[in-house]
Order: sequence, then structure tokens, then C-alpha cells
Amino acid sequence: MDSRDKALSNENIWAPWRTEYIASITERQEGACFVCEARDSDDDAGNLVLWRGPNAIAMLNRFPYTGGHTLICPNAHVADILDVDEETSREISRMCRDMVEVLKHAVHAHGYNIGVNLGVAAGAGLPGHLHWHVVPRWQGDTNYLEALAQVRMVPISLEQLQVLITDAARELDLPWTIAELS
Ligand SMILES: [Zn+2]
Repeated sequence: MDSRDKALSNENIWAPWRTEYIASITERQEGACFVCEARDSDDDAGNLVLWRGPNAIAMLNRFPYTGGHTLICPNAHVADILDVDEETSREISRMCRDMVEVLKHAVHAHGYNIGVNLGVAAGAGLPGHLHWHVVPRWQGDTNYLEALAQVRMVPISLEQLQVLITDAARELDLPWTIAELS
């Protein structure tokens, strides 16, 4: 079983954010940080950015565990939670809370996982740039299909999700700079 097969195997069912290490394969190959690239780019649609604050950024995970799997990241390229200042910590906490509110409106999940993998040993796929995962969960989303076929069902495109989530964020009047997609 190679690393990608392992990433998609049902070992992963109870640790959804570990799938992020698929992104690390890209990172290692390209030697770049996709969070910093998204932060510095104007192409929010292409980079799957959802919203920005003074100290943090929210984006869709390009390798989602479920539809609506998002990442909340400090703007600063820091690896350790101990290097995040208090103001940024508060902003990230608020963004995680707001993401759950938006996802409740946009994708109507049954539950949510919110978590951080701190360090490679803990499963961090992008160990250089700290990020919080917000993962919508549905009853049965770890169903027989994944167990047998080692595939995941994400029944909506990233582009559709980005529109749904940014529209919901605007409706809820969140205090962030919402991505303009057109
Ligand atoms: Zn970075």
C-alpha cells in the first residue's frame, strides 16, 4: 500500500484531518506553501479562498475529507501554535465559530470536527503553516463505500461550495472580507 492508498484507506475514518497530508505531497514536490500563495494572490477563486481577516484567512481544502472541509490559517507562516499571538488566536477562534455557522447554512451537516495537527508526528500535512480544520460530518459519511472501495464521496464541486459558503457568509454579515469570485 503506497502513501496515497494509505491516505484514502479507512484507517483514516476517525482522523479526518490526517488526509491533509495529501497536500504535503504537493508541497514537497513544489517546495511552496499553498496558504502563503493564497494569502498573497488576488485569485481567490483559483485558490479557494473564502474570507480574510486582518490576521487570518479561511479557505476550502483542495483535498477534502467531506464537502465543505475548510482550513483556517494565520496569515503569518508559523508552524507552532505557541508562535500565534493573542489577537490572532482570538481571530482564528472566531473564524472557526463563524465557519460552523456558515456551514450549517450552506451544507446542513449533522456534526463538525474542528482540529489541528501540530507537527508531522501528529499528522500535519503542511507542517510549516499552522491551520485549523473545520470538517462537516454526516451520519453515514464513513459508510460501506469508503470501507470497501477506499474512496470518499464528496458530492459537490469545490467551485460550487465556494459560492455557497461565500454567499452564506455575506447573508450572515460576517466581519470578514468575503472573497469576490467573479
Ligand atoms: Zn505559509
